[in-house]
Amino acid sequence: MTSGVEKLLQGYHHYRDNKYEKKRALIEDLVSRGQHPEVAVVACSDSRVDPAILFQADPGDLFMIRNVANLVPPMEEEGTYHGTSAALEFAVLGLGVKHIIVLGHAHCGGIKLMMEPEPYDSAFKYVPAWVSMLDAAHRRVRATMSNASDEARTRACEQNAVLVSLENLTTFPWVREGIDAGELQLHGWYVDIAAPELSAYDWEAGKFTAIA
Ligand SMILES: [Zn+2]
Repeated sequence: MTSGVEKLLQGYHHYRDNKYEKKRALIEDLVSRGQHPEVAVVACSDSRVDPAILFQADPGDLFMIRNVANLVPPMEEEGTYHGTSAALEFAVLGLGVKHIIVLGHAHCGGIKLMMEPEPYDSAFKYVPAWVSMLDAAHRRVRATMSNASDEARTRACEQNAVLVSLENLTTFPWVREGIDAGELQLHGWYVDIAAPELSAYDWEAGKFTAIA
């Protein structure tokens, strides 16, 4: 049986001998002129929701930021190692992306863990602190959907996580400035890989609706 790592090497060989050859001109251009992606995606680290695979992206298309539960934290002055905020800063100020897509997803392990009655093993230190930015959204879902199924509540929490991230994005001044100048657009998307269905948050309707 092929191990996980051997499968990666086989994949790389296939990439080098096939895709690289087909995309050689594009890749050479990306190296000589640098990357100019129009889109930054904040996605979950979940192995099943790789935006490059889902959207069939080419090299240079997507500036990718992935973390547990596709979260954008609010801007914080304190602290040093703000990985997600640094990546966003690079995308907006360094690369001038025109769109930021927060991509939530069904069956999110980070959200599911948070919703369990005894969510965390004591070995977990960073995950509880990270997803605690969803506490208010989680409480809201519990309070307003007490009669709903676990599945419906989990989905609501997953979609709320996208909205929290969108709201937190606007705490960064360069995001607000980009939006005000009409140079930056924020999008809240949600994918269910089993359905399969892609939905987007409709700002006017105030809900997610299927787009693909
Ligand atoms: Zn997830």
